[in-house]
Amino acid sequence: MRLIIIGPPGSGKGTQANRLSERLGLAHVSTGDILRDAIKRQSPEGRSASSYVATGRLVPDELVNEIIRALFRGKKAPRQFIMDGYPRTVAQADFFDRVLKDQGLDLGGVIFLQVPDEEITERLSGRRTCPNPTCGASYHVKFQPPRRPDVCDRCDTRLVQREDDKPETIAKRLAVYHAVYDELVDHYRRGGCLKEIDGVGDMEAVYERILEALKTC
Ligand code: AMP
Repeated sequence: MRLIIIGPPGSGKGTQANRLSERLGLAHVSTGDILRDAIKRQSPEGRSASSYVATGRLVPDELVNEIIRALFRGKKAPRQFIMDGYPRTVAQADFFDRVLKDQGLDLGGVIFLQVPDEEITERLSGRRTCPNPTCGASYHVKFQPPRRPDVCDRCDTRLVQREDDKPETIAKRLAVYHAVYDELVDHYRRGGCLKEIDGVGDMEAVYERILEALKTC
């Protein structure tokens, strides 16, 4: 199966994509993770992207598209996948349509997670992540606190707040999101299997809603 999951930052895309990738045996392709890794390694792509990511702005389409093109042309090109955080603009969606066409692949469905802004702000500002590259566990100060404050349960590393989860940056990311998403959603609504899912509530309940919706793809 080939899926895209879209929604505002903090809508739970990453968490749901993880679970779906395990359950359905899909490669989980997150451009946010790819970019953060490139920034950490200080690769040329990472150096170009770092100021955008740190301030919550979208990295230019050409740069992200190039990363995706290389991935899909490479030896380890995913065949069954869930895209998380890409495409994020209509230009990226057009580009990705072409990448898939070139590879003779079609899209099974697009999951659109809907969560209101106030809830997004509360979720993101409380998020803490483990910076240990082999762990990467995620917590929330209110909804999923670690056993000891600010320390990872799994590997004892001190937790951090992502630079782009700071309040000024969250507002910026939401503004960016609203500016481009209407068009993106329209693109996929026209193109076929768009599933609009209520992303509010328990993670488990949202997951069940997604599985139910995918039955009709
Ligand atoms: P995420 O983890 O998906 O919220 O992405 C974190 C940051 O990476 C975003 O705020 C953007 O700066 C950048 N980013 C990730 N994916 C894309 C994309 N498809 N297009 C442009 N920028 C992106």
